[in-house]
Amino acid sequence: AKAAGGARTWFFDDALRTELSGQAALEDALRAGLVAGELVLHYQPVVSLQTGGTRGFEALVRWHRSGHGLVPPDEFIPVAERSDLVCDLGRWVMAQAAGQLARWRADGTVDEDVHVAVNLSGRHLAETTLVADVAEVLATSGLPPHLLVLEATETVVLDGPAMLPNLHAVRDLGVRLSLDDYGTGYTSIEQFRTLPLDALKIDRSFIVADAPQDVALVGLMVHAAHTFGLVVVAEGVERPEQVELLRGLGCDLVQGYLFSRPVPAGEVPALLRRTVVV
Ligand code: C2E
Ligand code: CA
Ligand code: CA
Ligand code: CA
Repeated sequence: AKAAGGARTWFFDDALRTELSGQAALEDALRAGLVAGELVLHYQPVVSLQTGGTRGFEALVRWHRSGHGLVPPDEFIPVAERSDLVCDLGRWVMAQAAGQLARWRADGTVDEDVHVAVNLSGRHLAETTLVADVAEVLATSGLPPHLLVLEATETVVLDGPAMLPNLHAVRDLGVRLSLDDYGTGYTSIEQFRTLPLDALKIDRSFIVADAPQDVALVGLMVHAAHTFGLVVVAEGVERPEQVELLRGLGCDLVQGYLFSRPVPAGEVPALLRRTVVV
């Protein structure tokens, strides 16, 4: 009986230890994977509702973790955000995306006004190295600054007024700022006046819901954003009716599975040769 009790205690401690060390192990594996070249960016087109042309791409990270297949960002970004690792990741993502767009511009794959958007975590946006990180990416890639868009989620921007000087400073470099997942937080329209923003991405949850109230809300968001000179992007567009609705509401750009899932860089040229009807 004593031995069994001891075994149970051991098992409990071990489960706890396993859970705690699991996160640390994932973090170590991610750090090693970043160095080993296991991370890749997939690109999702951002389409103009006016012309049907591709106006830009959002770069979305994936991890080809050895022995685990393709790991989606939701499974490792939260772990990366526990430490400075997420800043290393952010630097890598920016450098890759900017370098890729510079090459697509050089070989004529994309038009000269096509942009690339990257997602940065709140931790990196608040980091003292942010401005130098962005400046280095611009210098190394030679990409015109206005073609690099930094996406920050609404909640991150609201929770971190301390990062405002950073946002102003990177915008002074000429890059653009986009407020991601808009509508999930509580940004008042008043704040559009003070936040250094160029674009607003309406969260997918407003696009998938077809209730009249949601449609009215999207209309209000578009109107408010345009009042402050912001470009409006709707994400998560999956059905043609949503395109019609969004066009009627004055939305500028759309992104979603209807046009394309995020694809590896190698598939982008073929994607651009397709005709998109919007
Ligand atoms: P997000 O920035 O809101 O990115 C949009 C997510 O919606 C992507 O998921 C994209 O694949 C997905 N999506 C696009 N169109 C549709 C659609 O029509 N329907 C549906 N159901 N989904 C659609 P993904 O690639 O799994 O990324 C998830 C989240 O992970 C992103 O949300 C972003 O917050 C984060 N993330 C991705 N890449 C990075 C990165 O490089 N750095 C950081 N810090 N976070 C990243
Ligand atoms: Ca995003
Ligand atoms: Ca989003
Ligand atoms: Ca999101």
